[in-house]
Amino acid sequence: MLMTKERRPAIRTLRGWAIGALQEASAIRECEEHGWMRDRGDPHARDRALLSARHEPPLGVSPDEAVAAVRGVLDTIGDTCPECPPEE
Ligand SMILES: [Zn+2]
Repeated sequence: MLMTKERRPAIRTLRGWAIGALQEASAIRECEEHGWMRDRGDPHARDRALLSARHEPPLGVSPDEAVAAVRGVLDTIGDTCPECPPEE
């Protein structure tokens, strides 16, 4: 009997896609030293990322899901790199 496996590659990579969309819009940036993503705190860049998520969601993902994924990434990314010394 055939196993029916759930195929959901789009969902598995949705967070990765959202990170890419945010980087493309310059809403987040990778710490050059440690590789952590940092929120740049730019509301216009966020808007660009959310707009592109709504208008160009990845294949098999609804606009609402794409926007939610971008918001979810923003929620989990801080505006500082956890390994960089705090600015004084
Ligand atoms: Zn760092």
